[in-house]
Amino acid sequence: MKIIVGGGISGLWLAAELKARNIPCCVIEKNALGQGQTLASQGMIHGGTKYALDGSLTKAASEIGAMPARWKQALQGEGTVDLRHVQLEREDQLLWSVESIAAKLLGFFASKAMRSRMKRINPQSEAAFNHPNFKGHLYRLSEPVLKLDTLVHAFAEILDGQIFQTEVTQLLMQNNKVVGVETNTGKIHGDVILTAGEGAEALLSELPGEYPVMQRRPLAMAVCKLVQPIPKVFGHQLGHGSKPKLTVSTHEFDGAQYLYLGGQLAEDGVTQDDGTVCSNAKRALSEALCWLEPNVESTHVFRINRAEPSTREGNRPDTAFVCQSNNLIVAWPTKLALAPALADQILPLLGGDSKPTTLPQWSKAPEGHYPWV
Ligand SMILES: Cc1cc2nc3c(=O)[nH]c(=O)nc-3n(C[C@H](O)[C@H](O)[C@H](O)COP(=O)(O)OP(=O)(O)OC[C@H]3O[C@@H](n4cnc5c(N)ncnc54)[C@H](O)[C@@H]3O)c2cc1C
Repeated sequence: MKIIVGGGISGLWLAAELKARNIPCCVIEKNALGQGQTLASQGMIHGGTKYALDGSLTKAASEIGAMPARWKQALQGEGTVDLRHVQLEREDQLLWSVESIAAKLLGFFASKAMRSRMKRINPQSEAAFNHPNFKGHLYRLSEPVLKLDTLVHAFAEILDGQIFQTEVTQLLMQNNKVVGVETNTGKIHGDVILTAGEGAEALLSELPGEYPVMQRRPLAMAVCKLVQPIPKVFGHQLGHGSKPKLTVSTHEFDGAQYLYLGGQLAEDGVTQDDGTVCSNAKRALSEALCWLEPNVESTHVFRINRAEPSTREGNRPDTAFVCQSNNLIVAWPTKLALAPALADQILPLLGGDSKPTTLPQWSKAPEGHYPWV
């Protein structure tokens, strides 16, 4: 039995791959499916372009480059993981600038490597940019944006009967090997794969021996509720730096429209108080989409950590991370988009199961909801 600890995208994708191969497995989630970083994310399946904004295609940009095609395959029901029922917010993402972009960046966008990924488009073809006061450049990136609640729901259906709600309190060891987990509800034995996001750190800290070290990279996301809806925007405003100035996604709940704001704003907000983040968010929004004149009714801040393997400088790791030690697999995808790559790395590490498997009779983990609303 393969025991997957954590029902975020990494645990769910892996479990679906195992199910497709008839490998017995269960997912143990302490709260609700997706309720950690997964439903807090902006749902953007990056192909690495946003990591190349300094004008060069880095290692990270080229490795993540295969992910949009991989997800599109799953979304069309053509891969081992069938995500045909997942809805998209958009089939693509937009990149725009409100001022003239540096010549270096323009040359980069025109380069052969980038032409295959993105296209400069006429603003009139996009409702949100079809305005005489939009004076910048607009690009379309062929990278989808997922409707995350439908993603979590699709996995809950695929894995029906194999997902349980209980907290793993300890990893069980025998002869210096991890042989199962102890939970609030009971024990279960098998090969353990830790896809617990931030929760991995506490479980690893109890173990004797050497295990990977985790880092947290916090974000202070701003959530703006609008008085009146604007045409939906999913994409990144470019500045002069190597990171998007603002990343915008648009959502509707109970008849109201919300803009969920990330990018440099959310990175800078980590060291600022909520009041400062809110006023910076309003200013950033009115600059990024000035021609739409977004009218903000209220703003709040949603703080969350990204859980990743530790890097020397505390920077973003380049790729999905998997480590096997004493029969325990520890995994952090570092991006939602990299969940398929994470599963690809884990699958060859897993041995077969000779014993017949009985799943525990524990309660089913519910589907999570957007934690920032
Ligand atoms: C604000 C924000 C925006 C982002 N936007 C994007 C984006 O647009 N595109 C992109 O590619 N990536 C994005 N990311 C990154 C992406 O969200 C994460 O890399 C990804 O969701 C991590 O998935 P995971 O399954 O490893 O972790 P999580 O989603 O955090 O799941 C871990 C799960 O483990 C459970 N758990 C923890 N401890 C235990 C325990 N002891 N017992 C049982 N269960 C346990 C938790 O409850 C949780 O549900 C974003 C991240 C953030 C924070």
